[in-house]
Amino acid sequence: MPDHLSPDPLHILHEVFGYDQFRGPQQAIIEHVTAGGDALVLMPTGGGKSLCYQIPAIARQRAGYGVSIVVSPLIALMHDQVGALHEAGVEAAFLNSTLSFDEAADVERRLARGQITMLYAAPERLTTPRFLSLLDGLLSRGQLALFAIDEAHCVSQWGHDFRPEYRGLTVLHERYPGVPRIALTATADALTRTDIVERLQLEEAGRFVSSFDRPNIRYAIVEKKDVTTQLLRFIEAEHAGDAGVVYCQSRKRVEELAATLAGAGINALPYHAGLDAKLRQQHQDRFLREEGIVMVATIAFGMGIDKPDVRFVAHVDMPKNIEGYYQETGRAGRDGEPADAWMAYGLQDVVNQARMIDESPAGDEFKQVMRGKLDALLALAEATDCRRVRLLGYFGEHAVPCGNCDNCLHPPELWDGTETARKLLSTIYWIKKQNGIGFGAGHIMDIVRGKKTDKVAQYRHDTLSTFGLCAESSEAQLRGVLRQLIATGALHVDAAAFNTLQLTDGSRAVLKGEVPVRLRASVSAPAARKPRAGRREAKAASPAAATLDAAGLGRFAALKAWRAEVAREHNLPAYVIFHDATLAAIAERAPQSLDDLQGVSGLGVKKLEAYGADVVRVCRGPHG
Ligand code: ADP
Ligand code: ZN
Repeated sequence: MPDHLSPDPLHILHEVFGYDQFRGPQQAIIEHVTAGGDALVLMPTGGGKSLCYQIPAIARQRAGYGVSIVVSPLIALMHDQVGALHEAGVEAAFLNSTLSFDEAADVERRLARGQITMLYAAPERLTTPRFLSLLDGLLSRGQLALFAIDEAHCVSQWGHDFRPEYRGLTVLHERYPGVPRIALTATADALTRTDIVERLQLEEAGRFVSSFDRPNIRYAIVEKKDVTTQLLRFIEAEHAGDAGVVYCQSRKRVEELAATLAGAGINALPYHAGLDAKLRQQHQDRFLREEGIVMVATIAFGMGIDKPDVRFVAHVDMPKNIEGYYQETGRAGRDGEPADAWMAYGLQDVVNQARMIDESPAGDEFKQVMRGKLDALLALAEATDCRRVRLLGYFGEHAVPCGNCDNCLHPPELWDGTETARKLLSTIYWIKKQNGIGFGAGHIMDIVRGKKTDKVAQYRHDTLSTFGLCAESSEAQLRGVLRQLIATGALHVDAAAFNTLQLTDGSRAVLKGEVPVRLRASVSAPAARKPRAGRREAKAASPAAATLDAAGLGRFAALKAWRAEVAREHNLPAYVIFHDATLAAIAERAPQSLDDLQGVSGLGVKKLEAYGADVVRVCRGPHG
């Protein structure tokens, strides 16, 4: 067997992908699956999941087992994913609704002939009778090597991306019990995990759970005031010219904010499910293919986005739960370079999310779970200690204070809001007793601040003993206390009754003074942070090129220009051709010949063959 067809995983890692070693649990997973075992893989975004099924697929194909099927919901990304494999010299293809009948028939023919190593397909395609009979044919010839189920959390209603079509995937296990399966996801709390195992019948599968920590991501959660201005300041101070994603709750908000950012000179594009499909794809392609685009989006955007140099993810509205938050923020900094996760949240977010749960048509049990998840996110937002410890704790991981989140970097001063909380709660208690109805947060705050509004006069709430008791408190402080009471379950927002505030079982302990209420002292905006040391200079190129000298930076820039050209010709994102880190490594070496390129990380045999000579020529410059 010629050396380059070796089925050895480490050999494939070197030859096809140009990397010198496996990362974390990759080796164990790849060996297990290559040997025919089933696996459930939980690894954070950017952890290196793709190789966990791609290398077994290549290895098993070389060992004579035939084609691997990759199940993925990411139709809009399959073209790029398959393109990336082609660049590495792997025979891959996809079948989805974007193909014409003839194109699909061609893929099917190549599949039947054994000319494909990896086939990407959407779950709804996979479970059609036509596709299943194709698989039957492959199986009968012993040419069905592996099923990889990407984004496996889509099978669970507890995950944040439930796709009913994923439920149909049980057919794989039932119809092809002898074919190994690997399911992968970047997100799953305990409940979702159990659900995945049950739904996909992976009880016997090997379980590989990585640490979910993303140490290069800096988490910060700020109190929402004028969020548009806060966001603009954040981008201008920390991320001018960087690629980023801004998540909003509604389509309308997406459109408005994208326009505002664009008006401020930021290269921003909107993305949400209500946009015309073609425009959506176009915006996604621009985000992936151009540099420094800020995508303003609903959660419809982002799954599977593997752009390595997204420098920040911002939330201007609070997500539904920690899984969603972690998944979305995880799209920052896949290249391992410093990146920011920034969120602004306020009382209104809490009220809105609580209302959405209450108003959803789901059953009580479901709502209960969703409320629990919302509470966990609120606790994270209100936390005055390390955010990372809380985040990882949520996923069942123990951690120590990280030194790279807002609370670690600027420990907040605390004040004791217990007395204020008691005054607010007792006001709510007394007006309910007196009037038989509840009132909203605004009115409650007016009472304790001693404001004689029309409503106060109408209900004679100026006669309450708590009227004006918190005259010295600012509205922001009172909001903070209410928010925290809601976050900790000591108050309930009744969506069915005009968002009125209602006492709960948890209120009593606070009223009695048994549970302290600790809040951040400073509710004013923290002073703008200084840019990170060395960041400005490094940014001129890219974090990956930070250590290059002037000549090296010149080569790096020339290589990037060359890469942009190739990417355009191949209709692929630039990072699919080479990552910045690979170009920086090449620029550093100043190669004079192909030999000088040996061992550059990210430069496999196929790419060396296809691009090596060009790269050397570009590095030697016009006179070289
Ligand atoms: P995930 O799918 O888990 O989010 P990817 O599979 O996209 O992550 O991998 C993240 C990045 O890490 C990719 O750019 C990939 O090329 C790179 N990578 C993965 N494994 C290795 C490795 N063993 N050595 C070097 N780079 C790797
Ligand atoms: Zn921390």
